[in-house]
Amino acid sequence: MGQHLSRTVAEGRAFMQLINGQPADALSGERIDVVSPSDGKVFASIPAAGAADIDRAVKSSREAFENGPWSRMPAFERGRLLTRLGLLIEKNGDELAALESRDTGKPIRQGKADVTSTMRYYEFYGGAADKIHGDTIPFLDGYTALTLREPHGVVAGIIPWNYPMQILARVAGAAFAMGNTLVVKPAEDASLTTIRIAELALEAGFPEGVFNVVTGYGRDAGAALSAHRDIDYVTFTGSTMTGTAIQQAAAINNRGVTMELGGKSPQIVFADADIEKALPVLVNAIIQNGGQTCSAGSRVLIEKPIYEAVSTELAARFGKLVAAPHDADGDLGPMVNKKQQGQVKSFIAAAEEAGVSVLARGSVDPSAPQNGFYVAPALFGSVDPKANIAQQEVFGPVLSLFAFEGEEEAVRLANSTDYGLVAGVWTKDGARQHRVAKKVRAGQVFVNGYGAGGGIELPFGGFKKSGHGREKGFEALYDMSATKTIVFNHG
Ligand code: NAD
Repeated sequence: MGQHLSRTVAEGRAFMQLINGQPADALSGERIDVVSPSDGKVFASIPAAGAADIDRAVKSSREAFENGPWSRMPAFERGRLLTRLGLLIEKNGDELAALESRDTGKPIRQGKADVTSTMRYYEFYGGAADKIHGDTIPFLDGYTALTLREPHGVVAGIIPWNYPMQILARVAGAAFAMGNTLVVKPAEDASLTTIRIAELALEAGFPEGVFNVVTGYGRDAGAALSAHRDIDYVTFTGSTMTGTAIQQAAAINNRGVTMELGGKSPQIVFADADIEKALPVLVNAIIQNGGQTCSAGSRVLIEKPIYEAVSTELAARFGKLVAAPHDADGDLGPMVNKKQQGQVKSFIAAAEEAGVSVLARGSVDPSAPQNGFYVAPALFGSVDPKANIAQQEVFGPVLSLFAFEGEEEAVRLANSTDYGLVAGVWTKDGARQHRVAKKVRAGQVFVNGYGAGGGIELPFGGFKKSGHGREKGFEALYDMSATKTIVFNHG
């Protein structure tokens, strides 16, 4: 892909929502500017939906669920539509990568990687749609009991800005595979690929109303959607604070929820680890997507005998990291918006003021536009496990190092935050690999690697404040459906 496309894609375009298969402006006519994080400039706009727009979209999804061709379609045909959508995403991959990259600031290579994962989600769930079965259950004499897995109905999906295309795919892939219809509200900072993918779904042959997209602010469109009385299930990915508000709204109608929230994920490096193998993975786990990744490895716990050596190596690597525009070849891009840039910078400044030792700072490419939302990566050493920087999710390129002595302390430190999303364990000792992986409270544990949530096939989700419910893999299909038990009395 040439630089040209990633700098000019969608220039000046007034994007529309997609409701009932038709482009739709907000009923109020209000719009939100779309800003490129690389230079701070407005390049497009999206509608600012309110409660009335949400109501339209929910009605359309309800009608599609109750009465449209979708409700009569065999599972394998729904799967075929998902597979077709995946192929269209592949075909339009350059445009989608450029759009995602310009909209969020992520480097174009990350945009391309996101397209590949997005495609894989639709492919996986396309193949899975007709492979979720119920059971027949041995019961009393004279009875036959069986279970069916039924869709919830109309699902609301509220999506964050960090991996918009991928997170939409894991929600939509599983929801559609099980026969739900969907109203999606992407983040106000990153709605463009969601709109484009819903257009491609229509092209693939999805019936109208199955896949509706509303755009707007969380406090207006998001709040109206999560509290809507005619939504059957809510799936949310985003911050723990917003997740709590959404659960309260959904509770008014007693609706089920899946919550994929924040993280403060640890990587534990024992003295016998293969350090050369670990080092690039430790750096990448916090630099990928500028650290704006729920599963970012933001804490590295190092066994005392190797603390000096590992922290020195990490400092050397951090000092060379460069933040650059999305279409330059930097190690990371800018933060998604000015607010996020401000938040990350103030975390760094507060830690410095509190006397936390700064082992290294990366830099911002001197030719990067002044008004872009860049942050130079920061590495903090010998951090107090109770310090703010050790406990709070920064969601930026900020890594904290801790020293520990022995397995017990490693596990205690790993579990010492409110979060429990992902963890890494680095050791050659096989028995220890099993022991520690079991003791760490996290939804995914990687041994001698760190997948950063990777793997479409692998169930993903949190313990503690990182959320509940599971996405990805077959587990997501259970979350996106409900079991119905039917009992026949032959007597
Ligand atoms: P956010 O919570 O601010 O926003 C996420 C979405 O919620 C956006 O679409 C937003 O418009 C909407 N929203 C905001 N307020 C709302 C309200 N009151 N009611 C309904 N909707 C509302 O999160 P963010 O800043 O966009 O994303 C960053 C956060 O997401 C981080 O904390 C990160 O850890 C988390 N995250 C988690 C996962 C995961 O799978 N666990 C994945 C990605 C991001």
